[in-house]
Amino acid sequence: MDQFPVRDGQLVVGGLSLNQLAARVGSTPFYAVDRQLLRDRVATLRAVLPAEVKLHYAMKANPMPAVVACMAGLVDGIDVASGGELKVALDAGADPAEISFAGPGKRDPELRQAVASGVLVNVESLRELDVLAAASAEFGLPARVALRVNPDFELKGSGMKMGGGPKQFGIDVEQLAEAFARIRALGLAFEGFHLFAGSQNLKAEAICEAQCKAYDLALRLAAEAPAPLRFLNLGGGFGIPYFPGEQRLDLAPIGANLAALVERAKVELPQAELVIELGRYFVGEAGVYVTRVVDRKVSRGQVYLVCDGGLNHHLSASGNFGQVIRKNYPVAIGNRMPAVDAPEAAFESVMAVGPLCTPLDTLAERMRLPVADVGDLVVVFQSGAYGASASPQAFLGHPVVTEVLV
Ligand SMILES: *Cc1c(COP(=O)(O)O)cnc(C)c1O
Repeated sequence: MDQFPVRDGQLVVGGLSLNQLAARVGSTPFYAVDRQLLRDRVATLRAVLPAEVKLHYAMKANPMPAVVACMAGLVDGIDVASGGELKVALDAGADPAEISFAGPGKRDPELRQAVASGVLVNVESLRELDVLAAASAEFGLPARVALRVNPDFELKGSGMKMGGGPKQFGIDVEQLAEAFARIRALGLAFEGFHLFAGSQNLKAEAICEAQCKAYDLALRLAAEAPAPLRFLNLGGGFGIPYFPGEQRLDLAPIGANLAALVERAKVELPQAELVIELGRYFVGEAGVYVTRVVDRKVSRGQVYLVCDGGLNHHLSASGNFGQVIRKNYPVAIGNRMPAVDAPEAAFESVMAVGPLCTPLDTLAERMRLPVADVGDLVVVFQSGAYGASASPQAFLGHPVVTEVLV
């Protein structure tokens, strides 16, 4: 993957050759996120998107505290999805005024935590409004609310659809009148709307369409809302390429589309701040998962590289986190990066597997990789998002994975 250079046959992450990095971390397996790539990614987005659009980091993509602290210094706000994430964001120094809290099933103590912290709650049910009002009265603090709307459209061609049709997320457009009435009756501080239609989309056109529909819907709803819109979260869904043939998202049309919406908003919603929230797009390509080969076996002609970690640390690379048909993430032998003119004999077709007693624990299926042996380092790219925190680390009782930001 071209975001990581190669020096003397070694992959370079965070300026360190992979062998040196592995020694510095002290043990395998580990995740490493390259800090400079995080900075580059934010700078790329800021160069293409209008300055008026605020960038929020949806930290569920990578909640490692060092990553959240780094991102808090780069973006305009942090989106959290639990009381636990809220704690990490506050510890990281994120400004509570710029934190928003979405997610279904917020428990009463989490809603109280949000009011006590002064963060914006993206409300997903009428019940949440009542709990927020009680907390607000108890602390004598305003409860800042936005309504997460379950829209009447979806993000076309998305890996995961999170709006449109019946959903556990947000409040159906059809039920908003009741929510507005409840906000008025309870005297809550209404700030705006949150619309999130889907995730992992590589089609700029589909993202632009969803942003326009989100804007139009919010504009229509604003006429009935309890207060002028100060906050309008148009969602995200920017994808990254994982599989052969996938192209990086073309940001230019998205920038142009958002610029047009910014101009409309200046007239139609003059007090509203436009926000997009991205998780994997910020962090996904900046991270690698590194696991060491502990055994090399040949079974009926097929080479197996058995590694010291697998789906217990990296469920998504194993294909068990939402993939319908299993495909290989990009994988390399990070301490044996091949020269461009390497002979065919330097490669073989391998199964790279983890140590778990299940055939689901596969990191690379029949992949052509440089011939590798015990001690070599298998690297899984595109691993900065939905890694350690999205994996069943206790499954089979192997050691937990180390995470570093370099
Ligand atoms: C998961 C989620 C995101 C982040 O999705 P990515 O695909 O990582 O960009 C953003 N917003 C909400 C509401 C989410 O649930």
